[in-house]
Order: sequence, then structure tokens, then C-alpha cells
Amino acid sequence: MNSQLSISDIIRKQRKFFQTGATKGLAFRLAQLKNLKQAILQHQTDIVQALLVDLNRAEVETYATEILLILGEIDYAIKNLKKWMQPEKLATNLQQFPASARIYPEPLGIALIIGPWNYPFQLTLSPLIGAIAAGNCVIIKPSELANNSSKVIAEIITKYFAKEYITVVEGGVETSQLLLAEKFDHIFFTGGTVIGKIVMAAAAKHLTPVTLELGGKSPCIVDADIKIECTAQRIVWGKFLNAGQTCVAPDYLLVNKNIKPQLLTAIQKSIKEFYGDNPAKSLDYGRIINQKHFDRLIQFLQDGNICIGGESNKNECYIAPTVIDNITLTSAVMQSEIFGPILPIIEYGDINEAITIINSQPKPLAIYLFSQNKQLQQRILQNTSSGGVCINDTVMQAAASGLPFGGVGDSGIGRYHGKTSFETFSHYKTVLQRSFLFDIKLRYAPYKGKLQWLKRIVGSNT
Ligand code: NAD
Repeated sequence: MNSQLSISDIIRKQRKFFQTGATKGLAFRLAQLKNLKQAILQHQTDIVQALLVDLNRAEVETYATEILLILGEIDYAIKNLKKWMQPEKLATNLQQFPASARIYPEPLGIALIIGPWNYPFQLTLSPLIGAIAAGNCVIIKPSELANNSSKVIAEIITKYFAKEYITVVEGGVETSQLLLAEKFDHIFFTGGTVIGKIVMAAAAKHLTPVTLELGGKSPCIVDADIKIECTAQRIVWGKFLNAGQTCVAPDYLLVNKNIKPQLLTAIQKSIKEFYGDNPAKSLDYGRIINQKHFDRLIQFLQDGNICIGGESNKNECYIAPTVIDNITLTSAVMQSEIFGPILPIIEYGDINEAITIINSQPKPLAIYLFSQNKQLQQRILQNTSSGGVCINDTVMQAAASGLPFGGVGDSGIGRYHGKTSFETFSHYKTVLQRSFLFDIKLRYAPYKGKLQWLKRIVGSNT
């Protein structure tokens, strides 16, 4: 049996299962969410171990960025699901009288979740929580690049869920292509903008709706009105977490030139505090996912002046936390998302220069602003567009269940986390209920003499 047949087979079985209606009840959905929670709790060590091998990820980072986030999303969904599933009453107008209207969330059917390698558990299982909560069947395709994590995801799902309900299909680009050739009821893709376009084109052939959680260059503006040490720590944490391989990592700094020397000193101090004199020896500092990405990143070290870090070791896929000064918009490092531990700095004199730079680029997933100046904060909010904004911190906007997360323009389509995950995997069906109590005949033919009544309703005298 080839993989094409097996994928169609899985989809056929899932469709059959979905049509039984088994996934739709509140009790079933809650039981499956609890089941997933149990699976994560039972396999914490496997998850930590897989990420240690795939990305040399420290256990604390794995807990903070994968396990706790997933468990938090599950608990939030369990607590709120009954409320989310309630039909919502809508107002009706005079022409519909007597009538009532409601909007009912219903599951879409079979969802495909395609994940990336950088946070392989969180970025496949967090959308899965939304899909389960909304009552769907699901196929998950984890990234082949985080090979060990992909295996653990497959093991967990196979052990805890029936194949006709939730299945993992492992594999690379070809497997993705085979999956994308099929008809799904929703595709939830997390990955780069280039592949996002391929996914959307494939989905269009079946008119399948998509959520695209993509990347981009998220700028981080640093004004002079800041607490410098805390700013440096928050930038260093958000940038070098997972060795810079975070979709919402600050990609580059736009720094007020009056604060740049002090900021550089504080960043250097923070890097040393976090990872010691030699980050290559730190147990808390990650590695680049593979040599291909290592080679891509090394090219970026040729521009500007390296003022912090710059050391590397290809055999270990190690690149030190690196800061590069004297970068311009035409430097290679500014032409694409960095997605690694390299932080270029561009200085500005007036904030308008920073705004102009941001608006000359595709809309980013995040904009960070470090400033206590409320007017400046409003200027950035009103004059730029991005998936989200975080003021005086980095990355934290992506970590709370109550906060919708997603991109805009080149950084993505749609959003999730908390209730928005449920909404993403639901269709909101409008239901108008009319009564037989009486029937206004104005709309029925023959129309003779009725136009003036309609005109009176719209307030026209002609
Ligand atoms: P990627 O786009 O290369 O791969 C993502 C998935 O797509 C993988 O499962 C891969 O197998 C599949 N894929 C690759 N090529 C394909 C093709 N030609 N056809 C069909 N499927 C294909 O992304 P990545 O390298 O895994 O992740 C890095 C990117 O993801 C970065 O741009 C990052 O910003 C972005 N990202 C975004 C978010 C977010 O939440 N917005 C989160 C993490 C990563």
C-alpha cells in the first residue's frame, strides 16, 4: 500500500467517524481534552528528551515554552468550552418579525495541522486543542526537521487517540504535498511565508479555508526613555531563547542613537549573565536545527561590525549569541527573516525614521517597543501594522491563552489561542427561526401597489 492510498484511507475513515456525530457532544470533547492533558503529563520526560536531541533545548525552556503552554491552553479550553459551545442570540429586525435568530458554532469536519520544527509540540498540539474543542477530526503533520519530536508526537497521539479521530502522518515535503492534494475542511499551517503561499494555493483547489501562522522580520524599537538593564534582559531572553529560532523573536533592533552605547553594554552584560563567558559550554543555550540553516545564518555574519559574539562551530551547529552593528536596510541580514541568534542593530535619530523603516517592510508578526513615553507608544500603535504588539517586553504576547495570536499580511492569516482557537475550527451557522403567527404579504406577487409601502419603510418619498 503506498502512502497516497494510506492518506486517502485515513481521511475516508475520519470522514466516516465524523459523520457518526461522535465528536460533537460536550462530554466527548471534554473527555478528549482531558485525555490529551493526561498524555502530555505522562510523556513530559519524552518531550524534554526529544527537544534536547533536536535543538539542545534546556529543560526549563521546554517546560516554559511547550509543556506549560499546552497544559494552560487545555485547562482554559476545559474551563470555557461549555460557554463557547452555546448558541448566541442575535437581534432581528422589523421585516423579520415575529422571529428569533441564533448563531450556532459547529465543527468544520476534518482538519489538517502542518507544524514547524522550532516549537514542535506547542505548535502542533495547541491548534489541536482548538480542533478538539470545536469537535473536529484531525490529521497532524509535524515537521520532519525536528525528527525526534515528530516521533514522540506520533507515539503520543497513536497511544491516546483512535486513528479515525486523530492521526499523525509523519514525513517531509512529499508527505505534505500528498496531504495537501486531499480535500480537508480546514488547514492550519505554521511555517515560513514562502511555504504558506504553496499551502494556500493547494487549499484553494478545494476551497479549503486556511489559517496561516507565518513568520517575518519583527522589529524591536528601543527608545531612550527606558529602564536599561531590564530592557536588555528582556531583549536578550526573547532573541536568544531557543537560539533565536522563535517566530516572534525580535528580528532586529531599531535603537535611538542616544541610548545605543549603554544598550550595547547592557546587552553584553545580560548575555554573559545568562550564558556565561562561553555560551558554547552553557547547558542553557540551544543549537541551530541543522547544518543547512547553520550555513544560511553564517552568511549574515559578513555584514556590518560584529560587536558581541560571532563565534561558531559547524559540527555542533553552534552560533554564539551575536550582535551586529552598522547594518543598513540593504545588508543581507535585512533581506529575510533571520530565525537564529543574530541581532542586527540599526540606529535612528527621530522616531519617524524607525516608523518609515517598519512601514517599508512587509507587515511583521510582532512589533516590540521599549519606551515609557505614552505618546510614543500611541504613535507606534497608530502608525504601524503588525500581528501583535508588545510594549516593554518581548515574546510574552504569544504566551497567554486569553490573548489571540496571529499575523497580518505576509505574517499570516487568522488567529488562535484560547477562544480564538475554538472559533478557528468552528463554522458559525446563522439560524433564523420564523413563526406562523402572522404573515405580512407585502413581499409576495402581485406587486401592484406595494412599492409605495416599501418606499415608506426605507423613508423615501419619491
Ligand atoms: P517551513 O515553512 O519550512 O515548514 C513548515 C512545514 O511545512 C513542515 O512541516 C514542512 O514539512 C512543510 N513543508 C515544507 N516545504 C513544503 C512544501 N514545498 N510543500 C508543502 N509543505 C512543505 O517552516 P519551518 O522551517 O519549519 O519553520 C520556520 C518558519 O516558521 C519561520 O519563518 C517562522 O517564523 C515560522 N513560524 C511561525 C510561527 C507562528 O506562530 N506564526 C511559529 C513558528 C514558526
